[in-house]
Amino acid sequence: MKVSKLTFNPFEENTYILWNEDSKNSIVIDPGMFDDEERHHFDDFVNSLQLDIKKVLLTHMHLDHAASAKYVSEKYDAKIHASAKDAQLGLLLSQQAEMFGFKFALPSVTADVDLKEGDVLELDNEHIIVMETPGHTRGGLSFYAKDSNLVFVGDTLFLQSIGRTDLPGGNYTQLMDSVKNKLFFLPEETLVLCGHGGSTTIGDEKSYNPFIK
Ligand SMILES: [Zn+2]
Repeated sequence: MKVSKLTFNPFEENTYILWNEDSKNSIVIDPGMFDDEERHHFDDFVNSLQLDIKKVLLTHMHLDHAASAKYVSEKYDAKIHASAKDAQLGLLLSQQAEMFGFKFALPSVTADVDLKEGDVLELDNEHIIVMETPGHTRGGLSFYAKDSNLVFVGDTLFLQSIGRTDLPGGNYTQLMDSVKNKLFFLPEETLVLCGHGGSTTIGDEKSYNPFIK
């Protein structure tokens, strides 16, 4: 499985594109494009590789991660997969934009498929296991691509940092539980692909993350 990271919007959010090199079947995680220029950049990338986007996955429904979920879903005929526990946030995307001072209107996002702990999504021979990792939002999810030794954690865990818990739906106790009792049970060599900034590994975060004791 191949993975590329495109970084979009003023929050420097990481949008991940996964695909199988032979079939070109693809999954997009957190399409965060804010404007037409960013959407063109995304489309150019997809078209240059002739990818066939099958699914849109959302780690959570904050504005910077879900802004173009509906755009990608409609353009590429791909269902939106997310947690129903973030449904309220998805309905309030425009209000989230307003809260941060942006003037554009966004269509609300609703999940076509409600993901739950232990669900397994397939991308050809790759199995992507859904983990519920709440705390940054109620419906926060991580996606563990076991066969490739990768986990996409959204804003739950960062390189030597952790996700904010001061936004609506945030809960510090839950976030710590998600990190320590879920993500940290993955193999140490698992590559952690974060919603913002650089990547890390489970082992490095266990050893060096200053927010986790
Ligand atoms: Zn977020």
